[in-house]
Parts: sequence; C-alpha cells; structure tokens
Amino acid sequence: MDAEISAVKAAEILDSRGNPTIQTEIWLADGSLGAASVPSGASTGSLEALELRDQDSSRYFGKGVLEAVANVNSEICSHLLGRDATQQDKLDECLLELDGTPNKGRLGANAVLSVSLAAAKAAAASRGLPLYAHLADLFGNKNPDILPVPQMNILNGGAHADNQVDFQEFMVLPVGVDRFSEAVRMGAEIFHTLRGILNGKGLSTGIGDEGGFAPELDSNEEAVNLVIDAVEQAGFELETQVFLGLDVASSEFFDEGRYVLASDGSSYTTEEFIGLMSDWIGRFPIISVEDPLSETDWNGWKSITQKHGSDLQLTGDDLFVTNPEILRRGITRGAGNSVLVKLNQIGSLSETLDTIRIAQSENYGVTISHRSGETTDTTIADLAVATGAGQIKTGSLCRSERVAKYNRLMMIENSLGDSAQFAGPRGFPSVLKKFKD
Ligand code: PGA
Ligand code: ZN
Repeated sequence: MDAEISAVKAAEILDSRGNPTIQTEIWLADGSLGAASVPSGASTGSLEALELRDQDSSRYFGKGVLEAVANVNSEICSHLLGRDATQQDKLDECLLELDGTPNKGRLGANAVLSVSLAAAKAAAASRGLPLYAHLADLFGNKNPDILPVPQMNILNGGAHADNQVDFQEFMVLPVGVDRFSEAVRMGAEIFHTLRGILNGKGLSTGIGDEGGFAPELDSNEEAVNLVIDAVEQAGFELETQVFLGLDVASSEFFDEGRYVLASDGSSYTTEEFIGLMSDWIGRFPIISVEDPLSETDWNGWKSITQKHGSDLQLTGDDLFVTNPEILRRGITRGAGNSVLVKLNQIGSLSETLDTIRIAQSENYGVTISHRSGETTDTTIADLAVATGAGQIKTGSLCRSERVAKYNRLMMIENSLGDSAQFAGPRGFPSVLKKFKD
C-alpha cells in the first residue's frame, strides 16, 4: 500500500497572536508528506471541542501545547502507523475512539485535528492531487470548481481589538463580480481607501487580530458608516457589487439575559436587540449577520429567524460550533439559516464534512472560516472549493496568515482556468431572493 502511514511527528509552533499551537507532519511509505497546523479562537463558543493547553504557567503563561504534541507523538502515532491515509473516515473514527470523550478532551481537539488534516494532505500528495481535489472526492463533489464569496473583515472590534467597539467584525462581501480574484481586488481597494479615510479623520490605522483596522470609535454605527464610505469612495456600488456583513459575536456581551453595549452604555432585552438589528438592516446594505444573538438565546434565534430568515443571512457560529448534532437540533428549532464552519470547533475533517453536508441538504448557507489566531496553513481555502461552500471568511486584506488563504484561492482559480466559477449570489442559498429584488 503506497499511502501507508510511516511516520507521525508533531511540534509546538506559534500562531499569529504569538501563542503556541500544534503542527503535525505525516509521512507515507511512498515518501509523500502532509503537514497541518491548527488555529485558535478568542471569542470561542462554550460547546467547542477542547483545545488542550498545558496549564504550566512557567511556559507561555500556561498556553503551551506540549501535552497535545506528546499525545500525537506517542499514543496517536502508535495507533496510526501502517494505516491507509486515503481512508479518512476510518482514520478519524480511530482518532475519536482513541480519545474516547465527547469533546476530544483527553487527547485534545488541537492534537486530533492536526493529525486528521495532515493525513488528508499526505493522501492528496500521494494521489498526486491538489488538496481541494482530494477533499472533493472525500466529500463526494464531482465538480470542485466554485470559488467562494469572501467575507472580508476590514474593521475589527470586540475581543479582537483594544477599542470600545462592541461588535466584533465589520465585513465587505463583493458578491456582484465574475471572478474571485476581482473580489479580492475590490476588497483590497476598499481596505486601502478605508485607511485613507481613517487617516483623514485623525483615527488610528493600527490593526486588530484579523487585520482589519481597529480605531477608537464612538459607536458601532460609526463603524458601519466608515465601511460604507470606504466602499463608495473606492468606486464600488453598494447592494449590486458589494454588500456588508457583521459578526456581532453577541455571546461576548450577553449578560444575565441582556445585551450590554459598552460603547454607549446601553442594554437591550432580546426583543429590543432584534429591533436594533431590524433597524440596521432597514438602513444599511447588510446581507449577512453572524451570531446576532447569544449561543444560549435559542428563543431569540427562533424569533429573529421568523422575522428575517428570508431577507437576511443569519449565521450561527458560537451557536452551532460546527457540530453536526447541534446543527441538526438548530435546524429543527428553526434557528438561523446559515452555518459558520471552523474545523477546530469540532476537531476532525470527517465531522466537519458531515456538518457541511447537513447544512447544504437543508439549504443553509455555508461559510468556511479561519480563527482569530491563525497560521499560514491554507487548508480552509481548499476546503471551500472542495465542498462548494459558497462563502469563506478569512479576515482582512493584510497580515500574511489572512492573505495566504486569499492567495491560495487565487491560485486555485488560476489553475482551474475556464472551468472556474465564482459563487456570487448562489453562495447565499437562504437569501437568494434578496439578490433578485
Ligand atoms: P474567533 O473569532 O476565532 O476569535 O472565535 C472568529 C469568529 O467569531 O468568527
Ligand atoms: Zn463569529
């Protein structure tokens, strides 16, 4: 067997915030190599799989991952040697069984995921395929040729910035273009225009964790207005070429049943906060809102979906945590119409593919996503094309760990030649009608 695993070796490396994370390399008998590293969130959902950290305060303030590394190099390695790397299902099943907990808490989801992805990359190399083509085979997609609409986070707040802006991400979505590379150009031109606008107002052009600007502003609304100005001054048309998206990340400021905004000291009940969202949607060209309500506020999610489910993409991130079971429950309860997909929230490739399959079969939107703490690993770019996800969220138009994903997608688009398609409005199955109005 050519794709037999012959060596598994992990090490501790650093992520984009300067915190430790894990990288694993897997070698196959035929000489193929796959290497994968794992990102890390700051505004994490409480039901995410467990990221194993050492708790040894003498190293990296207790954030080391030497235990996770040791789990890969000893226990996981000894169970994987000799197995076929092309059999992803079986490998992931073996990893899950070995861990034996519901949240990968024994071996660590970071350890498990690094192995799961390194195996897929080694298998792709062994088959002589680009990663997206191998992943498409695993997913059952015969035509992996759709490039995703990027959600580009050009203004950072919340847990990703030191400013007083409560909402975490203010994004531009170039939907009305023909090619992915054109969407990137538009995003970059808007980003640079925004820098000029901030400079002109004497506001900071320092950036947050995801590469968006992080100025000190008076309100969340001011952030939206700045982004709108940037799109217009860059010469693009709102609501035909470019739409706006938000990640409210509201679990971060949900306190004892109320949504509490530090920027202006206001606080809202669920119904009042939905009212604020409705007001914004009426006044601003917003097509997509992620985590508008807290991960514990299921009744609120049901209510906002009843109200806006046909004119607004309502994406569950902390709500669904890429977990197939939780997503199924959410669909049954009528919560949201779209899912954010983060591999490390669930901790294996096979379970991530399951979540995407469920979402697509229910006409939910699918956005493959980075984390605020990233590496230059570009697996999510390939995953987006492989699954025909329709959307990707991977930050701003600077910082190499963000741009690496856009660059990978531009290279995939280039290599697909004439068969490359841009998802455009098709990337938003739950709100297609919005684009036809
Ligand atoms: P995180 O942020 O990686 O810090 O969780 C990203 C997001 O909330 O979408
Ligand atoms: Zn989010």
